[in-house]
Amino acid sequence: MAREEQSHMVLDQIARQIMECHRCPLYKEATHAVPGEGSMVARVMFIGEAPGEQEDTLGRPFVGRAGKVLDSLLTGSGLGRNDVFIGNIIKHRPPGNRDPKPDEIIACTPWLEQQVNAIRPPLLVPLGRHAARYVLGRMGVEFLKITDISGTVFEGEPFGFPQKVIPVLHPAATLHNPLSRGHLEEDFRHLGELIRTMGP
Ligand code: SF4
Repeated sequence: MAREEQSHMVLDQIARQIMECHRCPLYKEATHAVPGEGSMVARVMFIGEAPGEQEDTLGRPFVGRAGKVLDSLLTGSGLGRNDVFIGNIIKHRPPGNRDPKPDEIIACTPWLEQQVNAIRPPLLVPLGRHAARYVLGRMGVEFLKITDISGTVFEGEPFGFPQKVIPVLHPAATLHNPLSRGHLEEDFRHLGELIRTMGP
């Protein structure tokens, strides 16, 4: 069976399990689970924090205002949604978009771990401090502020095989702080260049 077909089957199965998951209380107030979507053989996987209101309504990741920013940043890097996989560390929306609690992150991230292992992307891009803290934490890297490490290339084996990890600001940051837009655009341009040098 081709790798894409196999990855498709595994990701479908994970998504179905996420839709029935009751490992933490977040499913109770959510409308839809948001497992994530994109290429089954993506070379880059974007990892956000958790679904917001629009994502909860539609069951799709990054479809609200922050999603429009992400789409535009992807275009600037020469990538489209079909080239990448977009997911979150938390699959059901926290009420009122509050920060995820540590025990919710512990409960939910085994799903992400399974998704990363199905797709095996050589490059991970955590979006914002919560996703960055989770992924870099798996590599033993700690940081105080996401702005201190945004755009830095880390290399390691956060999920048991070699990957590059480039944490960046969350696209929603640009909605409150227009200055962060320039930083993100630059980080995404570098990201596009890095992916092109990685070859097929
Ligand atoms: S947020 Fe994650 S752990 Fe909690 S119920 Fe949803 S899928 Fe399960």
